[in-house]
Amino acid sequence: MSDQSLFSEIGYSKHLKRIFFAVELLLGILFFLGYFFGGDFITVAALVTMIALLPVWYFEIKGDTETGSIILISILLFMLLYLAWTNYGLRDEAIVGLPGILLFAALLGKLRLLYTLILIMFINVFLMGWLNQEGFFYIKPATSDLTAAITLILILAIITYTVWLLGRDLNQAISDLIKENLKGIESQSQLEQAIHHDNLTGLPNRLLLKDRFEQSVRKSIRGKSKTVLIVIDIDNFKQINEELGQEIGDQVLIAVSANIQENLRDSDTIGRISGDEFIVILEDLNSTESITTIVEKLHSDLRGPLTLKSTTVSPTCSIGYAISPDHGSEFEDISSKADMAMTWSKKMGKNTINIFDKDHTKDTSHKFEISNQLPRALEKNEFQLYFQPKIDLKSHQLVGAEALIRWDNEKLGRIPPDMFINIAEQTGHINEIGQWVIETAIAHCASWQELVNYPVPVAINISSLQFKTGMLDQDIKRYLDKYRIPGDLVEIEFTESLFFKNSTKILTCLNALKREGVKLALDDFGTGYSNLGYLKEFEIHTLKIDQSFIRKISENKEDKPIVKAIIQMAESLDLQVVAEGVETEEVLDVLKELDCDIGQGNYWSKPLPAKEFKDYIKNF
Ligand code: C2E
Ligand code: MG
Ligand code: MG
Repeated sequence: MSDQSLFSEIGYSKHLKRIFFAVELLLGILFFLGYFFGGDFITVAALVTMIALLPVWYFEIKGDTETGSIILISILLFMLLYLAWTNYGLRDEAIVGLPGILLFAALLGKLRLLYTLILIMFINVFLMGWLNQEGFFYIKPATSDLTAAITLILILAIITYTVWLLGRDLNQAISDLIKENLKGIESQSQLEQAIHHDNLTGLPNRLLLKDRFEQSVRKSIRGKSKTVLIVIDIDNFKQINEELGQEIGDQVLIAVSANIQENLRDSDTIGRISGDEFIVILEDLNSTESITTIVEKLHSDLRGPLTLKSTTVSPTCSIGYAISPDHGSEFEDISSKADMAMTWSKKMGKNTINIFDKDHTKDTSHKFEISNQLPRALEKNEFQLYFQPKIDLKSHQLVGAEALIRWDNEKLGRIPPDMFINIAEQTGHINEIGQWVIETAIAHCASWQELVNYPVPVAINISSLQFKTGMLDQDIKRYLDKYRIPGDLVEIEFTESLFFKNSTKILTCLNALKREGVKLALDDFGTGYSNLGYLKEFEIHTLKIDQSFIRKISENKEDKPIVKAIIQMAESLDLQVVAEGVETEEVLDVLKELDCDIGQGNYWSKPLPAKEFKDYIKNF
């Protein structure tokens, strides 16, 4: 017990008042008993004590509960001992009251008071026995009469009352403590949840992932196995959010996280580290082959359409991963390597998987160099247009070519368009580069028409930023006029991101181009938001299925139904379908089986420099 009363804060003063009244009541009863049954001694003793106790009431009213209690305890002790000494000694009913006093003192929490009381009691009890035995002091033999019984009953009643008060307070205090404790535990777990989990999906965040990763790595070291850290980024999530609203965006995130979770074992961990980026930690894997299989399955399972409350969305994901111990064992190191691999997947046209490669680390400095070199690339004549044929799968005819830009820089060598188009968009150079592409493509297209007796149209990739000037239709028209070819020999390819801009300027421009006969093609279909409404509204002529669905269609079971659905839908909307990335005979066979219209890919020809493409047409 400490020197501080447990009950001081929960109404000790109330107890003092109650016990004071109970004692006064007891004394009053004793007084009347003595008075009516002829116990003069008891009558006087009770009355004197009743009066002596009045200061207790005085101190209590003054707010000095402690002094009041000490007076009460002292007087009661004195009264009980006096009764015992003067009546039946150790066999007196008053002795039974002594534990009651100890209890009440214990309530006060004053250790010293308790020791003093027990010492006084021991001495008195000892003396009563000893003096009596030695014959120094005579104590009457105890009687068990009605007065003794009533006195005992009253003493027991008052002790019971004190014990009951003590017990009730104890229970209250314990239940308060438990409640406080529970609150503490609850807020601690809420805090733990907040610190370690993402609010929206409830998934672990970076902090907890780090912890789990480190545990997995320790286990892997013991078991000589591998831990894999996968970074998953939803493609075009920004557009989903902007176009469909944040609420749908949130639903997509929740659905994707549930999807990922379904694919994992209990021992694996998934977490969200930023807006649309998830990390998955797979532990205890033994071979690179098994890792590849798991990652590929995860990737393809994430592709399925997500049925949300009010709509269906088919997002794709770009994945990068790194393996411990092969690529390192520190969380920061491995996660940044997996992230670089994921960024690489984005660059490769999204919806792809990449394992970390040390070439990925060159990326950032490379990016800086690219933006340094880009402004002078045009004047230094570093760009070239390559052309890749498009083939009709039924008639096997050449039905056009896609113009693809190439940049050979004296310092950086050949830079793929996926790498610099983005930068050109960010630095604002995309417009002048785009102008050059349009003019060069149309000029070459005009020259092809003289080579064969059927039309060979050109498809030109247009960045959605090129629509911003509001001059795109006039620029194209000017070159059509300059090189004297009809508009229907030109098709412009753009991605769904264009629709998210939602501007009348774009609509006016597309309408003006359509009036010229220029055709509209939706590029990389399947990797974006894949909304059918737009296809009708903008009168799209051609759908180009993204090569990530085509490349492995003959091996990858999941790709075929997706491509089949796209082709059937395109047919019902009267759209032409081009499958990009056809590399093998097997892929071609599947596409034919699915009734695809047109193919493009290395199976027929890689993109060729203008001169070689001319020869290709001539020899076709
Ligand atoms: P895209 O418009 O989807 O072009 C198709 C890409 O697939 C081209 O990559 C092409 O070389 C590649 N490809 C075609 N068939 C196969 C195949 O069988 N196997 C493989 N592995 N790849 C194949 P490229 O030329 O690197 O262009 C990448 C992207 O850069 C293009 O994707 C397009 O979005 C952009 N781009 C290219 N040229 C231009 C341009 O002049 N202007 C703009 N704004 N973007 C361009
Ligand atoms: Mg294209
Ligand atoms: Mg494409």
